Amino acid sequence: MWNGKNKAVTFSYDDGVETDKRLVELFNRYGLKCTFNLNSGIMTPESKWTENGILIRRMPPDNLPEIYNGHEIAVHCSTHANLTEIGKRKIRREIKRDKEKLEKIFGCEIRGMAYPYGAYNKKIMKAARKCDIEFARTVNDTHNFKMPDELLAFGATCHHQYEGLWELVDEFIDYDGEEPAVFCVWGHSYEFAVNDNWYRIERLCKKISGYGNIFYGTNSEVYLKKC
Ligand SMILES: [Zn+2]
Repeated sequence: MWNGKNKAVTFSYDDGVETDKRLVELFNRYGLKCTFNLNSGIMTPESKWTENGILIRRMPPDNLPEIYNGHEIAVHCSTHANLTEIGKRKIRREIKRDKEKLEKIFGCEIRGMAYPYGAYNKKIMKAARKCDIEFARTVNDTHNFKMPDELLAFGATCHHQYEGLWELVDEFIDYDGEEPAVFCVWGHSYEFAVNDNWYRIERLCKKISGYGNIFYGTNSEVYLKKC
């Protein structure tokens, strides 16, 4: 399945905020791969907000290829618009502009996407397909390891904050079946600052990494089997 292995681990993190740097370092230390979903139309100093007293800022485009080196970049729409609240043309523009700008910044083809706010419908999926998006993540978590039937609206296994995370990790590590199994975790790196729980993601990286029978790849490598 994936380099002869039938279990795969991948991550999907949104918004392109400053705390992604720390998350990338963590992933790199443990040999893990992530797909980062970015909003190229709002990579400005004004794009900041506060949660729980913590200042959250999107990063400017300048050093992004260096920062995300070794990981995958995907569309999260140009201005993080809720696609269910805008018309067809604007939907296309949000996806297409982001894809094109990210391709320019990173110098590679962008294949994936995560829907802002997880908001999507049939019309939006169709628009994504027309913009050559090959897979798009929702926020409808599966809490299982099945490969998705519909790549343009797939759910991750769980959010990193999910209360059943550790049971799922143990179940995945023990899994020895014939069916290919994917463990996909999603979230926003700023949540670790806001909740003061970087230890949670570090524990997850430590627990799930280093297995010879698990493939560690980006969303493209895992879902499109491009590896
Ligand atoms: Zn987002």
